[in-house]
Amino acid sequence: MKPVNKNDRITVHVEDLTHDGAGVAKVEGYPLFVPGALPGEDVVVHVLKTLKSYGFAKLIEIKQSSPFRVTAPCPVFDTCGGCQIQHLSYEGQMTFKQKLVRDAITRIGKLPDVPVHPVKGMEHPWRYRNKSQIPFGTQDGKVVAGFYQPRSHDIADTDICLIQTPEADAIMVSLKKSLAEMGIEPYEEATHRGMLRHVVVRKARATGEIMVVLVTKKKKFPQAAHAIELIQATVPEVTSIVQNINSEKTNVIFGAETLTLWGKDVIEDQIGDVRFEISARSFYQINPEQTEVLYGQALEYAQLTGKETVIDAYCGIGTISLFLAQQAEFVMGVEIVPQAIEDAKRNAELNGLSNTLFEAGPAEQVIPRWYKEGKKADVLVVDPPRKGCDEQLLRTILKQRPTRVVYVSCNPATLARDLRILEDGGYRTKEVQPVDMFPQSTHCEAVAWLELAE
Ligand code: SAH
Repeated sequence: MKPVNKNDRITVHVEDLTHDGAGVAKVEGYPLFVPGALPGEDVVVHVLKTLKSYGFAKLIEIKQSSPFRVTAPCPVFDTCGGCQIQHLSYEGQMTFKQKLVRDAITRIGKLPDVPVHPVKGMEHPWRYRNKSQIPFGTQDGKVVAGFYQPRSHDIADTDICLIQTPEADAIMVSLKKSLAEMGIEPYEEATHRGMLRHVVVRKARATGEIMVVLVTKKKKFPQAAHAIELIQATVPEVTSIVQNINSEKTNVIFGAETLTLWGKDVIEDQIGDVRFEISARSFYQINPEQTEVLYGQALEYAQLTGKETVIDAYCGIGTISLFLAQQAEFVMGVEIVPQAIEDAKRNAELNGLSNTLFEAGPAEQVIPRWYKEGKKADVLVVDPPRKGCDEQLLRTILKQRPTRVVYVSCNPATLARDLRILEDGGYRTKEVQPVDMFPQSTHCEAVAWLELAE
């Protein structure tokens, strides 16, 4: 018997937050998920759905509010899927994220004694995104632009996004206002009609250079000159305007072809002392200020003296590799996307870091081959996607036994799972440092330091 039924209206005490920011209340041990409610709150809810072992309820009224509750400053917080926890103060977000990592390390990693430090957060946790990918569309005959609603491709129309740059806001608004006048039709996903799909705005924090990418359905874009003029008048700091063509029926943003319409092909940024050239489609960390903190932490845990050989698995455009190459004897980076490896090689050259080698391919295949060829590492850095390290790669680590492993993770659950495997194979997790790369969202990045046990 479930203790609650659909359409019940009850008062519950909220104890926890899920990894996507919903409150969790327990009714006689039965978890009810209540979006919008915060831990410590007493709330009246309307039960919407009850499954065998958990249910969902709608927040009706807050009887006792959390001391960490704040009014979300964004006007579309309730409809947009971009941020989940703007209603939680930044201090509360830091506590939540530390607990998220600690819980995963304890429950999944079975490592209750490993120190999980307080989160390294931002002083000003707003306007931090260096890249905005803004979909354009039409609603009730009006041009709209903003971000997608949760789990949908309906646009939450907005003129302001408090986590993107003011320049991205300005470009979003001025294009939205003038699109009809310029004769540019927004793309419509359902019918595959229209022209302008997305506008991507990227800003390099260190240099201030800005790139605007207009993603269009067709290459023929007669209104380009008009759009360039408008963008330049709106944000004179723009240094590059490019067109990317995506003719496919897909929800992938970019197509294969990119043309420079005006200005430079790339923008240049700097992390620490390392310079990077970023093109329209390059993968690049989206919070530059915190990237420096994250890589600084990885560097600290790597404890390089200048004599080590380092492998950077999942290296992307080589950002961590080049950061470490300044203090290592040699760094080898591997990444599955060939274009990213091209970027990595170019960036190594740009910085005169010739003590590096980059190879495109799956880390779990390339690294065992490197070892066979005698290319061994003292320190291994991994920064895998959300699903964590490939099993084959973990087996290679356990077989080759580098002295130190630095694990950079964007998903505490897979981090904890992989730490357990490495622990069982003879490594010891010394400590874990969470870093907040995505304020106002529930995402949490963490760096773990592991040593081979004697
Ligand atoms: N370290 C980089 C990128 C981390 S994102 C940075 O900080 O910028 C994770 C990267 O892993 C992505 O670039 C993705 O393309 C790559 N990747 C995914 N699966 C992979 C695999 N099996 N082998 C190597 N790289 C992989």
